[in-house]
Amino acid sequence: MNLTELSSLMQNAGVAGAGGAGFPSYAKLNAAADTIILNCAECEPLLKLHRQVLAKYAKEILETLTVIADAVDAQSIIIAVKPHYKEAVAAVQAVIANYPKARIGLLPEVYPAGDEVVTIYETTGRVVRPGALPITVGVTVFNVETVYNIYRALNESAPVTYKYITITGEVASPVTLKAPLGTTYGELIALAGGATVKDYKLVGGGPMTGRIVSESDVVTKTSSAIIVLPADHFVIRKKTSKIKIDMKRAMAACCQCRMCTDLCSRHLLGHPIEPHLFMRSATSGVTKDLAPFMNTMYCSQCGLCEMYACSQNLSPRTLIGEYKNGLRANGIKPDPNVEMGPVNENRSGRMVPVDRLTARLGLTPYDKPALIADKDVTPASVKVMMGQSIGVPASPSVKVGDTVKVGDVIGTAAEGKLSMPIHASISGTVAEVADKYVVIRA
Ligand code: SF4
Ligand code: SF4
Repeated sequence: MNLTELSSLMQNAGVAGAGGAGFPSYAKLNAAADTIILNCAECEPLLKLHRQVLAKYAKEILETLTVIADAVDAQSIIIAVKPHYKEAVAAVQAVIANYPKARIGLLPEVYPAGDEVVTIYETTGRVVRPGALPITVGVTVFNVETVYNIYRALNESAPVTYKYITITGEVASPVTLKAPLGTTYGELIALAGGATVKDYKLVGGGPMTGRIVSESDVVTKTSSAIIVLPADHFVIRKKTSKIKIDMKRAMAACCQCRMCTDLCSRHLLGHPIEPHLFMRSATSGVTKDLAPFMNTMYCSQCGLCEMYACSQNLSPRTLIGEYKNGLRANGIKPDPNVEMGPVNENRSGRMVPVDRLTARLGLTPYDKPALIADKDVTPASVKVMMGQSIGVPASPSVKVGDTVKVGDVIGTAAEGKLSMPIHASISGTVAEVADKYVVIRA
């Protein structure tokens, strides 16, 4: 299959990055890639999804990676995985000899090994420049479930209609479910045995980069986990803090110890982000030197500085994110020629082990298996969102009363734009149509 055919198949199947920002996968295919990396780092505490999907579908995933590598004429496929994902590693080792382009690239058991820039450095030794895309160093990265979705599109003509999602934390039976897109988080928590505390809040995604969500929110192509936590848990308090208060606390308490910079995952790779300098400039209001403000563009928002490094419990990541968004909103782009330093010689000693991070976040009691369940999730209705990935959302193409089957197109992509169609995730009758979503009753 050539690159154009594969790209069109992936777009029509609506395959987006299954996690993170959800970049449309067809737009990542690029003939400049000499290496394809499968990212199975899954380094945020409590997330246990991709390693299970890789263990279950290793053959299908390696086969698909070979199709992708052949289409873009890449010479090398790297399965980036951690040694202690023993079942996933064993499943890959059992079939890898059949795929001559592929090799395993073992990642250290640290956070954030799954940040693409870090994954690429750890497995190839190449450093992506600040603000640049992986393709600038000849690499394209896909995560595990994304590649499995491409496999289904290639071999079963199946568009993306469901998402694996882990339900964990304060629930009776942590579990990973295969949920139709548009299922409410509340239904999934009930299937995990329900919450085990009265006063709780939900984090959608990992504890480091996820955000507060509610039970009425629904599964999309990028949903990876729902973590149920007591409302007064450290992670919840950090994610619900107010920016104005964060800034006042920073003005009063930042002692310029520079631990945030010493542990910053991007700074350690030579990128010019220095959170302690940003904190000094932002809290003092001194704008003579613009670099600490402009360099917020190179922050990955991994959260290590505020969730782990800062002994004063300040929030550099949140404040940096606010400035970064402000710069973007004003049309300011990263400088492709910005000066960068060498990889820090002490980097290996400054990387943060996941078990220590888990303990620091107060999540060790919740670090339990959440196995993929055999049973299907069968919601009575789904609310399928039209915008589930980066780019222009789809437009509803059905009307109330229409009968649809799983996989039917219910939202058409914007022509000539970065956009993908949306498909029915269950069979049934269209009960409601709005600009942003379609409700289907089973
Ligand atoms: S770690 Fe905290 S106290 Fe130290 S420089 Fe950074 S923000 Fe300030
Ligand atoms: S969130 Fe903090 S640690 Fe992570 S890249 Fe940004 S400044 Fe560095």
